[in-house]
Amino acid sequence: MSRLSVVLPAYNEELMVGKTCRVLHEVLTEAGISYELVLVDDGSNDRTWEEITKAGEKDANILGVHFSRNFGKEAAVYAGLAQATGDVVAVMDCDLQHPPETLIPMYHLWEEGWEVIEGVKKSRGTESLLHKESAGFFYGIMSKATGVNMQNASDFKMMDRKAVNSILSMPERNMFFRATSSWVGFKTTHVEFEVHDREAGQSKWSTWSLVKYAFTNIVAFTTVPLQFVTIIGGACFGCSLILIIYSLVQFFAGRAVEGYTTTLIVLLLIGSAIMLSLGIIGYYIAKIYEEVKRRPRYIISQIVRGKKDVYQEVNHDRSH
Ligand code: UDP
Ligand code: MG
Repeated sequence: MSRLSVVLPAYNEELMVGKTCRVLHEVLTEAGISYELVLVDDGSNDRTWEEITKAGEKDANILGVHFSRNFGKEAAVYAGLAQATGDVVAVMDCDLQHPPETLIPMYHLWEEGWEVIEGVKKSRGTESLLHKESAGFFYGIMSKATGVNMQNASDFKMMDRKAVNSILSMPERNMFFRATSSWVGFKTTHVEFEVHDREAGQSKWSTWSLVKYAFTNIVAFTTVPLQFVTIIGGACFGCSLILIIYSLVQFFAGRAVEGYTTTLIVLLLIGSAIMLSLGIIGYYIAKIYEEVKRRPRYIISQIVRGKKDVYQEVNHDRSH
């Protein structure tokens, strides 16, 4: 019989872990689905790991993975995928904002032969207008970059073993899971779901971390910003041509000396265009540098299955 793995990244979720495990157990047992929960503690500094081991004592289907420090959600998802043993793997948030009941229709779609089942948000929940607008802008760029409409994409999805393995075989360190799962292709469908409000604990995203996240992922997925550099260069060149002609006319008309303001403005504009372009190029170089170092994506410090410590038995190579 086939088995479903559910990957749950958890960072400072002490208030949610126990409940999430209980709810998933109820929902999946009732539907008669054989399952495994892979909880990845992303270096929490609260009692999340204790809660995970406690849940493991009650439920032998729980695999707990503990990172040596916080590596970020994408790394946690990747580690979860690497440790999952199911024939089909779902990824969802650990705060029950992704409704567990939705796993059932997803699972049935998988049984019908679909290989990637994307969870698509019906609405974006309760977010401020500014947040909505900037998310809209970010996903606009990402949709262009991936050629897939990402406006309502989420990290809630279910994937067949084949898709999981192809994601695991990708060598890049900086993975944008949301887009990668559509990049790999396969027979894809989607299920709509309503985003629930977070019951307890806090969202880990500050405005600044969201801005950083947006930049990192745009750079990870597209080189369009590098073309901005060319466009800025082209625009500067166009302006220079006009100014050259203008200056020459002035010169031959014997009116050459004034024009200090123009010179200053032109200098400042060109200066900022160059700085901006160097910044964009520099950002890509920094990312290339990070990738060529080939550090592991994450470092695991502990793994337990149910009550048992299985650190020695597990294959850590996948972090490379
Ligand atoms: N998360 C994580 N590592 C981090 C930040 C978040 O594993 O560094 C997990 C978090 O525990 C949760 C999921 O990612 O299960 C989504 O985070 P959150 O609920 O804070 O995001 P939001 O729902 O507000 O977008
Ligand atoms: Mg959340």
